[in-house]
Amino acid sequence: MGYKSDIEIAQETTMAPITEIAEKAGIDEKYLEQYGKYKAKIDYNLLKESDAPDGKLILVTAINPTPAGEGKTTTTVGLADAMQKMGKKVMVALREPSLGPVFGVKGGAAGGGYAQVVPMEDINLHFTGDFHAIGAANNLLAAMIDNHIFQGNALNIDPRKITWRRCVDMNDRQLRNVVDGLGGKTNGMPREDGYDITVASEIMAVLCLASDITDLKNRLARIIIGYTYGKVAEQKPVTAGDLHAQGAMAALLKDALKPNLVQTLEHVPAIVHGGPFANIAHGCNSVTATKMALKLADYAITEAGFGADLGAEKFLDIKCRMAGLKPSAVVIVATVRALKYNGGVPKADLNNENLEALEKGLPNLLKHVSNITNVYKLPAVVAINAFPTDTKAELDLVEKKCKELGVNVALSEVWAKGGEGGIALAEEVIRLVEQPNDFTFSYELEGTSIEDKLNDIVQKIYGGKRVVLTANAQKQAKQLTDMGFGNCPICVAKTQYSLTDDQTKLGAPTDFEVTVRNLKISAGAGFIVALTGEIMTMPGLPKVPAAEKIDVDETGKITGLF
Ligand code: ADP
Ligand code: MG
Repeated sequence: MGYKSDIEIAQETTMAPITEIAEKAGIDEKYLEQYGKYKAKIDYNLLKESDAPDGKLILVTAINPTPAGEGKTTTTVGLADAMQKMGKKVMVALREPSLGPVFGVKGGAAGGGYAQVVPMEDINLHFTGDFHAIGAANNLLAAMIDNHIFQGNALNIDPRKITWRRCVDMNDRQLRNVVDGLGGKTNGMPREDGYDITVASEIMAVLCLASDITDLKNRLARIIIGYTYGKVAEQKPVTAGDLHAQGAMAALLKDALKPNLVQTLEHVPAIVHGGPFANIAHGCNSVTATKMALKLADYAITEAGFGADLGAEKFLDIKCRMAGLKPSAVVIVATVRALKYNGGVPKADLNNENLEALEKGLPNLLKHVSNITNVYKLPAVVAINAFPTDTKAELDLVEKKCKELGVNVALSEVWAKGGEGGIALAEEVIRLVEQPNDFTFSYELEGTSIEDKLNDIVQKIYGGKRVVLTANAQKQAKQLTDMGFGNCPICVAKTQYSLTDDQTKLGAPTDFEVTVRNLKISAGAGFIVALTGEIMTMPGLPKVPAAEKIDVDETGKITGLF
């Protein structure tokens, strides 16, 4: 179509040395650990030693997306660039991309067009090695479990009830289910095992929620790796702490815990750190990264994964609650293509003008707006992320409909124009964060059962009738409550494409039930995972993986990364 690819735009930019970016952010040299010229880690002691007041926290979320993504990262970055243009002191906090999607379908996660964080090649490939460190810590625990069993199994671990899986940062369906420990007595105890992608490891969630090394160790020690032999009533959970693994795991993670500093194309300081799955985990960058951005800037803009029913809900109900964060405004990204998708247009036809379908998809957007303003009681603005394929009539219609209903709205053209294209959105955000708000969670932790909490989420956020727990899930709810986890927040794993648990139900359905089939505790992370169906924790590659197009030349220049 004649547009430059993300990597071409990124490579045309002259980056500022990371020391300059750090200076701009007000990061004292003593906290800066450089990883080459354009990346650095920031020592978490900065958080403890700084007495600067916190800036305003702005969350970027989205309507229920199409499979391609609606531009949350792009909008986050472009909004920051726009605020900088307006003379504001601003920072972004984003998740680190996983290698799985980079080589698979979705592609990178460093923004797009003229709203990106750089060096995008590094950010998308290995970066500062955090994910490998997380994989190493995950697999150290796995090795210690099997070694414990091999060495006599003093803890009486039932090898059939080990819940801890191995991990690797790759889309590799071949490893989903494996049998290991084969080869006779000296080579371990044969058992069924499996791999998850690293971002699905509980270590990732733990690292992202940990406030410091001590909290990290405590959380690691609480991780449940499986259960002892015996009848259900007699089995006891076995933890990483029982295996004395937390110290060595934390040692492997000591640098991964430090947020990474990079820059946007317009040299706004950006922290890119941590990246838990948004289904079986909470899907946002680390608490440390968010807190640091708040300390260092007047405005900290961050993103949560998937649509607002999953990403914003978990950001607000899990992350903000655990970390004591109080957001000041929420940006809800909407695209013409996602609205048409929600209005029933098949994926292949999304590029054709269709005002009728567009209007039919609007209730989806409005439900998310209402959730943010009426349930969470936060100021919200809709950012219409303009695509080259959108027609003027389509863009105008969305804006007009929002205005008619009293919904704050701004057109965002940051993908095409960078910060310049985000001024209207930035002005609106700057106005909204000054409004007082009565931030409230969508459910209470204390005095409510697991089912009550789920009912609150289903009724208030999804707009459904109630949650239904299968017999299996009911049994698990009782067990988890008996084990003392009844007051944990809930992390719902469901489809990102619908407000319901059925990805074909688009728009804003009502009168539906959500079925929870499985409840699991992530004791280290500190939340209960409620699974509505089979959730894939190890993706596979598509028929033509993005990997086939990626290359590097003799000078080290990478091509084909989107
Ligand atoms: P999300 O964070 O919501 O998953 P991203 O910001 O990563 O979405 O964007 C997803 C993809 O869509 C990226 O490849 C990005 O370049 C592209 N994209 C985002 N916004 C636009 C736009 N306005 N026009 C064209 N492409 C866009
Ligand atoms: Mg994103």
